[in-house]
Amino acid sequence: MSVQSTTPRPVAANSVWPQLESLLPQVTKPIQYVGGELGAVVKDWDAATVRWALMYPDAYEVGLPNQGVQILYEVLNELPDVLAERTYAVWPDLEKLMRAHGVPQFTVDAHRPVRDFDVFGISFATELGYTNLLSAIDLAGIPLLAADRTDADPVVLAGGHAAFNPEPIADFIDAAVLGDGEEAVLEITAIVREWKAEGCPGGRDELLLRLARTESVYVPRFYDVDYLPDGRIQRVVPNRADVPFRVHKRTTMDLDAWPYPKKPLVPLAETVHERYAVEIFRGCTRGCRFCQAGMITRPVRERSITTVGQMVQEGLEFSGFHEVGLLSLSSADHSEIGDMCSGLAQQYEGTNVSLSLPSTRVDAFNIDLAQELSRNGRRTGLTFAPEGGSERIRKVINKMVSKDDLIRTVVTAYTNGWRQVKLYFMCGLPTETDEDVLEIADMAHEVIRAGRAATGSKDIRCTVSIGGFVPKPHTPFQWAAMERPEVIDGRLKLLKQAINADRSLGRAIGFRYHDGEPSLIEGLLSRGDRRVGAVIRKVWENGGRFDGWSEHFSYQRWVDAAAEVLPGFGVDLDWYTTRERDELEVLPWDHLDSGLDKDWLWQDWQDSLSEYEQDDCRWTPCFDCGVCPAMDTEIQIGPTGKKLLPLTPVNGLKLPAGGQQ
Ligand code: SF4
Repeated sequence: MSVQSTTPRPVAANSVWPQLESLLPQVTKPIQYVGGELGAVVKDWDAATVRWALMYPDAYEVGLPNQGVQILYEVLNELPDVLAERTYAVWPDLEKLMRAHGVPQFTVDAHRPVRDFDVFGISFATELGYTNLLSAIDLAGIPLLAADRTDADPVVLAGGHAAFNPEPIADFIDAAVLGDGEEAVLEITAIVREWKAEGCPGGRDELLLRLARTESVYVPRFYDVDYLPDGRIQRVVPNRADVPFRVHKRTTMDLDAWPYPKKPLVPLAETVHERYAVEIFRGCTRGCRFCQAGMITRPVRERSITTVGQMVQEGLEFSGFHEVGLLSLSSADHSEIGDMCSGLAQQYEGTNVSLSLPSTRVDAFNIDLAQELSRNGRRTGLTFAPEGGSERIRKVINKMVSKDDLIRTVVTAYTNGWRQVKLYFMCGLPTETDEDVLEIADMAHEVIRAGRAATGSKDIRCTVSIGGFVPKPHTPFQWAAMERPEVIDGRLKLLKQAINADRSLGRAIGFRYHDGEPSLIEGLLSRGDRRVGAVIRKVWENGGRFDGWSEHFSYQRWVDAAAEVLPGFGVDLDWYTTRERDELEVLPWDHLDSGLDKDWLWQDWQDSLSEYEQDDCRWTPCFDCGVCPAMDTEIQIGPTGKKLLPLTPVNGLKLPAGGQQ
């Protein structure tokens, strides 16, 4: 990793650094608030016409590697008259000191107050970041409620996957953008630039109106929600004539035209990923019915093998990273993944660069790719994700994997030298019974038994990892009832007992799981409407922070807040979570268009209940999910027939002779 310069950086005129610096020795990991990373940009404040503060609402160690923020940061800073800086959630120890000393939420780049920026953009990967949003807004000195803000406040703009249902945070944000950000931020910047150049006519309201008129920026204040006496939504309608009835998602169709990040940020403090990550495609049409990311990012758009090769080379040269991640929702599905992996493996053979490919495919091809990528001697872990324990439940979720396929694949991994594999499942899926979950134990036993027989060794292991199912908007499971946490926890207890019932096999099986309570709260937030905003606020006022972290999450705090707030609206926590919706119910996000046809989603939900599987439209005819006609496009996949090469010889990455780490 590159060594950072120790030359003191100049302090910007509006920097809070002088006040902040004396607080940092009193907090944990102060380096996370210092900025100045390789790849960071500090621009002249006065020379900029539009200024963005970008936030990932979690700690630096989670937020810095976030691809979405890194891409937008670079895209915006490439514009000569635009300035973008980053801010992350501060830990409670620093928050306390900032409040005591009057230090506002600041950016890590030039330590400028977030309130001074024109746009405060927050990217949400998960709804459990909502309490951190409230902390940041409040620490910034921005009124918590959008309705109370003045022209002196930035536009608070939400993006990321959670923005596909921003209703629970509708009171706290000014706007939300659905879909890909690269082109959207440029369009928003142009609107802000023009409005400011005209002297800010009509104030904040006019700016928001201009954004809303693009039809891809949702401004909640321009929409009213009416409710039925039983608590369901009657309708969501614009409260003025000049905004659209439906807001559409943005889709960047040509990924080769947007080869970002070109200059990845190299963290100063430890982070969850320290690697150069290249997105090799967006979208997924495998059709797993629980997967919001797969649904809302359609259609599939591949980045070409040549662009990927070029990005890897330039990204490594810039950053000095030793690891490359070839990312997507299912990387082994890229039409030229074989050539891509062998080309990169060949290019970096004998260097200290390792390549990894997150893929949850359950087939031998995955192992071939992993072998190719481990030529440098570094073996990345192998994860297979059957997701459901029984054949029946896998049909319900549309994960087309047979038990025999899984066992054959894992045994192939063992015979090819892997000693440890991870198997990923979900618990709490629609229609799930105890028996479906207990079949996970049979599968794990079978894997170890077959692995031992094939290798003749007892030195093999597998880890069973279980996540809680959360029904998400814009998926076929958006109508499904969630299971109660105590039922989930009971099933997991039975599963643990079943795994350990055979001690010889159980010894070789690790078991990791999350209990059901955080999933239920995530379910409340993901399918909530505007009334849930009062619960979020109450939890935040009662100390809720970093809810995505098990050590900070308090289930009781959420249950108590929901019990205090929701009955006033005639609803409760169960109403939002364990209640199945019917076909005609207006869902809080129906006016937000992900491109998916609601009738198709309903039909797929019915197919799920009939245990009917749906193929992938990459390899079979279109099944009319609605996205391609809505975007006036088609799926974009190869093969292009091009080769990864020519790449120039690798500079600066070779180790001395024989050097492998
Ligand atoms: S519209 Fe057809 S081709 Fe396009 S993503 Fe949906 S199913 Fe696939």
